[in-house]
Amino acid sequence: MQTTHIEHIGIAVKDLGESIRFYEEVLGLKCYNIEEVTDQKVRTAFFRVGQVKVELLESTSDDGPVAKFIEKRGEGVHHIAFAVNNIDQALEHARKRGVQLIDQQSRKGAEGLDIAFLHPRSTHGVLTELCEDKGK
Ligand code: ZN
Repeated sequence: MQTTHIEHIGIAVKDLGESIRFYEEVLGLKCYNIEEVTDQKVRTAFFRVGQVKVELLESTSDDGPVAKFIEKRGEGVHHIAFAVNNIDQALEHARKRGVQLIDQQSRKGAEGLDIAFLHPRSTHGVLTELCEDKGK
C-alpha cells in the first residue's frame, strides 16, 4: 500500500453558501467545484490549498450521514482523505489487518475519484477515506 499525500480534508457544515463565504472572504480561497453526491446525501464544495483540497459537506437530507454527524458532534472536521496509488490493494491491505471497512469495495465519489471509507473505530477516531484518481 502506497499513500502519496492527503487528497482532501472533509468538513461537515450546516450551510454550504455561508461556509463558502468564509473560505473565500476570510481565507482567500476560491471554490472551483460544487457537486452533489446523491448516494451520500451531500452537496460538496471544493477549494484547493496547494496539493490538498478542502471539501465542505452539506447534508441534502435530515437522515444523511453528514446530518447525523452534525447532530451528534456539531460542525467540524468530518474525515481525512488519503490518496493511494491502488485503492483495491489498499482496501485489501487494511482488511487483512483487521480494519473495519465501511465500504467493502471502492465506489465513485466526488470529483470522479474512486473512494472507500474506513471506520473510525479502527482508525483511532478519524473517519478515514482512501481515494485513487484513476483518470490520471
Ligand atoms: Zn471526502
